[in-house]
Amino acid sequence: MILIMKNLGLSCDFDNYYRTDSKEYRALTQATFIELWKNDSIYLATRPNNYDWVTGTTIADAEIIYEELPTKLVHMKFKTKDGEVIIASTRPELLCACKAVIVNPEDVRYTDLIGTKVTVPISNQEVEIQAHHSAQIEFGSGAVMVCSYGDHNDVALFRELDLEEVVAIGQDGRLTEAAGAYAGLKPKQARTKIIEDLESKGFIEKIEEISHRTPVSERSRTPIEIIPMEEYYLKQKGSVEKMRELGSQIKFYPKMHQQILMNWLDSIKIDWPISRRRFYGTEIPIWYCKKCSEPHLPEPGEYYQPWYLECPAEKCSKCGFTEFVGEERTFDTWMDSSVSPLFITKFKKDEEFFKRTYPTAVRPQAKDIVRTWLYYTLLRCENLTGEKPWSEAWIMGYGLDEKGMKMSKSKGNALDPLPIIEKFGADTFRFWSASEVNHGNDFRCSEQK
Ligand SMILES: [Zn+2]
Repeated sequence: MILIMKNLGLSCDFDNYYRTDSKEYRALTQATFIELWKNDSIYLATRPNNYDWVTGTTIADAEIIYEELPTKLVHMKFKTKDGEVIIASTRPELLCACKAVIVNPEDVRYTDLIGTKVTVPISNQEVEIQAHHSAQIEFGSGAVMVCSYGDHNDVALFRELDLEEVVAIGQDGRLTEAAGAYAGLKPKQARTKIIEDLESKGFIEKIEEISHRTPVSERSRTPIEIIPMEEYYLKQKGSVEKMRELGSQIKFYPKMHQQILMNWLDSIKIDWPISRRRFYGTEIPIWYCKKCSEPHLPEPGEYYQPWYLECPAEKCSKCGFTEFVGEERTFDTWMDSSVSPLFITKFKKDEEFFKRTYPTAVRPQAKDIVRTWLYYTLLRCENLTGEKPWSEAWIMGYGLDEKGMKMSKSKGNALDPLPIIEKFGADTFRFWSASEVNHGNDFRCSEQK
């Protein structure tokens, strides 16, 4: 990267750069966490969370993308007292976690059934038919099964209807004992198997092949599962209005990409889960008392590795016990990169320098990380300084190949700029980018051009 910049003739101080995984940088990430902990912005909670079982960790809503994937919409027969109700679902493997069936209160087909019980096929539990406006009259038969957890609507419904959750999928991404005969299978395998069983037992009315908007992990590209996990959260719901105000003060180039931030702010429903079960990352600086579990945080300023360093406190502040166990989880990587404006302005290190340089002038970045890098930086810097981190944001589009496909290393269609600069010279390259690229929009690249 630095070599490309040098070859393009950029004038920078190339010896003065930062790495978010350096000791100094990680010490800042940890110091900001300790500060937010002290002012009560961090809390621990067990909640249904987006879980990427391939990488084995919780992920934030901002790390989810939606893909249209082909799937089967299975219309199943649920027995009522003297008949049956048809319920369509793309996740029949979650039947064991079904705790209610909902129908729209205005759906006259079901008025008489509200408050009565139906029997869930295969797993055989009895659940109540309840009226709820989120059931869409025109989707499937209009009756919907509520399972822990098929999607985010299920999470909201379990809370609202006060249902007791069943953990049907474990942290290994496989069905749990709760799934009976399907325990140990991956959701897709269990789906195939349970469809066969439903069919042989006469519980299927019909199966439709549909394309379904499915939440997948941006990192592993596999459908996420929603399972209850205990994680640390950074409060963000209460800051949405403030972020909207700051976001509107920042000058976006081009102006249209400000809307990506505003749309994201409109969609924030939960606080930010910041702990991850990954080995590589900045450690969460906490030690717990072995006797009473009281958390102990060190003084900010140093880089701490609690999984192998001794707790700086000699005894527990609550019970006096002298043994501790270090936290093993790490931070979401955006916890690091969201304080870069504070690192470069020597926040908490050189008061004089910080005063002169913060807020900084401009954030240059790509449009796909507005809801992560840009938003989280805005949130964290405001939390810690009360001010916005920069006054301008330069948002770039993607480089596309000749066919208009987004360039990526994994697709093998990325162009390395270095040989091109060497062949044609930096001036030619700069002239091409100035004339070809409409700032903020996607642009096609090829050696020919
Ligand atoms: Zn203790």
